[in-house]
Amino acid sequence: MPGCLFCNIVAGKTPAQIVYDNPHVLAFKDIRPMAPVHALVIPKVHITGIHEATPEHAEALGQVLLGARDVAEQLGLAAGGYRLVINQGADAGQSVLHLHCHVIGGRPMAWPPG
Ligand code: AMP
Ligand code: ZN
Repeated sequence: MPGCLFCNIVAGKTPAQIVYDNPHVLAFKDIRPMAPVHALVIPKVHITGIHEATPEHAEALGQVLLGARDVAEQLGLAAGGYRLVINQGADAGQSVLHLHCHVIGGRPMAWPPG
C-alpha cells in the first residue's frame, strides 16, 4: 500500500530493528517501547486493521499469531508470560493503519488495560 509506514518497512524502504522474519510476517522493535520487551508483528500483506480482515486473510492472521508466539519465545518471554494486543480504530488508539500485533513483556502488567 503506497504511503503505508509498515509496508515500507516490509519493503526495506524504512529502517527498523527487525527481530523476526519469515515468508508471511515481519517483527521489529517498537520505537516507543511500553515495557522492557515491546515488538510488533505484522503481516507482509497490507491489512488495514483486524476489522478490515476477510476470510481470505485467515492464513495471514494465523501467521501473525504464530509469529507473535515465536517472537515471544525468541525475546525470552516464554517463562514469565506476555501480552498480545491488536488495537483497532480510534477508540483503541490505533495509530498505524497496517494491522500489527504488539508483543509486550518483561514486567507484570495490569488488568483491565487503560
Ligand atoms: P498502535 O497505536 O496500536 O497503532 O501502535 C503503533 C505502534 O507503532 C506504536 O506503539 C508506535 O510506537 C509504533 N511505531 C510507529 N512508527 C514506528 C516505526 N517506524 N518503527 C517501529 N515502531 C513504530
Ligand atoms: Zn501497509
